[in-house]
Amino acid sequence: MCRHAAWLGAPRALTTLIHEPAYGLLTQSYAPRRQRHGTVNADGFGMAWYDPARPEPVRYRRAIPIWADANLPALAEVARSGCLIAAVRCATTGMPVEESATAPFAGGGWLLSHNGRVERDAVRDLADDLPESPCDSAWLAAAVFARGRAGLGLAAALADVVVRAGEKDPAARLNLLACDGTALAATVWGDTLSFRADRDGVYVASEPLDDRPGWRAVPDRSLLTAAPGDVRVQPL
Ligand code: GLN
Repeated sequence: MCRHAAWLGAPRALTTLIHEPAYGLLTQSYAPRRQRHGTVNADGFGMAWYDPARPEPVRYRRAIPIWADANLPALAEVARSGCLIAAVRCATTGMPVEESATAPFAGGGWLLSHNGRVERDAVRDLADDLPESPCDSAWLAAAVFARGRAGLGLAAALADVVVRAGEKDPAARLNLLACDGTALAATVWGDTLSFRADRDGVYVASEPLDDRPGWRAVPDRSLLTAAPGDVRVQPL
């Protein structure tokens, strides 16, 4: 089970998800506190952000442990945006360990990360295009992006894919986190998720990034949606 985190609000640097907080993704890569499956997230990492200079988000992904990339701290300090997402990966047995299998996945201006696992047979029919990797998470991303192309909003696309895949594979764990530059959506389906809103925006993460008050755990089988100044949680 991997760990992921996102920010939506006033522009901040990616380091606020990774290096700066006491339990940011760097620490979560080797010492996660709430992870139920797997202990170390050393099979790769990715981060992405939106920049007005570019219609598509910028992604930086590597198939090495996040602590092994000496160039990352400086890059994460200057990569700033009002919409950020990052993830560290513990590959599911049988899944490839390579950049293309590493979140965040991108399609149609959306970004997506997955904590969990799913039988690929339960997802293949939900996608109308081949994913960038045979990894189960990439198939989920392809299914979500297909719904975006069909006109669904981010949250509706996530909910539809998770409920359908969960019906076909009852053992699936389907915590998705996605963003489109102006909104975030996340599902809780078999793993942990928390959020913390402050004056400037909201952090959403697999587990709290620090011990400050204000983190709230999201119950299982929920859909979280966040737009500036507005966080909602509803049952799936
Ligand atoms: N199944 C996905 C992968 O192999 C996600 C794994 C996870 O959440 N640990 O990358």
